[in-house]
Amino acid sequence: MEQGQFGLTQEHLMVIEAAKGVAKKLGPKMDLFNKMIFEEQRFPEEIWKEMANAGILGAMIPESYGGTGVGLLGMVLALETLATEGVGASLFSVLTTMDTMAILRGGSEEQKRTWLPKIANGDMKMAFAITEPDAGTNAFRMRTLAKREGDIYRINGQKAWITGFDVADYAIIVARTMTLDELKAQGLPKSYGMGLFIVDTKAKGITMNAMNTMGIEGFKQFHIYFDDVEVPLENRVGEEHMGAMVLFHALNPERILLAAGAVGMSEFALRKAVAYALERKVWSDTPIGAYQGVQHPLAHIKATQEAVRLLTYKAAWAFDNGLPPAQTGGYANMAKLLASELAVDAIDRAIQTHGGNGFVTDYQLIQMWAPARLLKTAPINNEMVMNFISEHVLGLPKSY
Ligand SMILES: Cc1cc2nc3c(=O)[nH]c(=O)nc-3n(C[C@H](O)[C@H](O)[C@H](O)COP(=O)(O)OP(=O)(O)OC[C@H]3O[C@@H](n4cnc5c(N)ncnc54)[C@H](O)[C@@H]3O)c2cc1C
Repeated sequence: MEQGQFGLTQEHLMVIEAAKGVAKKLGPKMDLFNKMIFEEQRFPEEIWKEMANAGILGAMIPESYGGTGVGLLGMVLALETLATEGVGASLFSVLTTMDTMAILRGGSEEQKRTWLPKIANGDMKMAFAITEPDAGTNAFRMRTLAKREGDIYRINGQKAWITGFDVADYAIIVARTMTLDELKAQGLPKSYGMGLFIVDTKAKGITMNAMNTMGIEGFKQFHIYFDDVEVPLENRVGEEHMGAMVLFHALNPERILLAAGAVGMSEFALRKAVAYALERKVWSDTPIGAYQGVQHPLAHIKATQEAVRLLTYKAAWAFDNGLPPAQTGGYANMAKLLASELAVDAIDRAIQTHGGNGFVTDYQLIQMWAPARLLKTAPINNEMVMNFISEHVLGLPKSY
């Protein structure tokens, strides 16, 4: 990220400076944090606190609910900057982003006042649980059921791959409020009969098992089992049976933020590659950076990165300015597609430039592979992203 990016306000530039300040403050301890994140898969609480103090966690939250209200573009700039400085490979944004958007868009006034200030100041961590073993890409197949009994809901079922459930205080659980059979019998669409519920991660009836997953380092992923978990009615986010509407609003920001993280990762890798290429000599006194076989792939990554960064900002701008969700969705999906490819290519190329050293963890590249690669698959795979662009931007028929 360079100063003087066109289209950015003074406020945006201040966010970038704040994120750089966080990175600088954490700098002396980064080796320790990297060990914690990449080797021990432990959540670095101190980084989270610094992000909260710098206003980053509350960037998307209006000032009236304790945030800084700089919007999604502000958050994009912060996460891109952190990733550029080597703080963001752990994709911190996954915790609380979806929850924030869901509560902002679908929550009651009471819910906004209760939850958002605590998210903004870092006191409250929230996981987000949609995926089930048999319902990933096709979330509508989910079977976890939240059955209403007067003033409570009773949740039964299971979720998989839930990031940070152990460190989160609460989680938003997406569940069916009507079974697929009930919907079929009543001729209702699969998008109906869903609900979002704010659930205490320590609630009675919840058990969890850690999965051996890589990708979002610093967190573990969990299988979560719900056995008659009681949730008060006031913890439902959105209208009865209409949870899918709230969910849809949260998907675009998540894609845009992950694209920003990917752009930052690509710059982190590129800087390392250039620094190494300027130093390393193999054949004579000429550094390998003089060889076009080394230069050109890096130059190509830089050119692609500039374009993807602009697209990511445009997607965030579209969201902040309330463009129709389908249009914002087009930009969000395109940004996520290209940014995930960019991050993988950049890290791959940086590893190649480093030769064998690319595989030495001290150079901090090989451990970036899984987080970058993850973004082609999750939170939504790039095939579905291209399906969206094909159907909603190009107007082509749906095939699945
Ligand atoms: C590290 C990590 C962290 C995660 N964190 C969370 C979390 O916090 N909360 C949460 O809810 N989930 C989380 N997930 C789950 C993630 O969102 C899912 O893994 C993802 O949505 C894919 O679902 P699936 O694994 O069931 O793949 P499947 O649905 O089985 O799909 C497999 C593959 O089939 C292909 N495919 C499927 N449908 C189509 C189609 N129509 N057209 C073309 N190709 C298609 C794609 O290539 C896809 O990758 C996480 C996953 C990982 C790996």
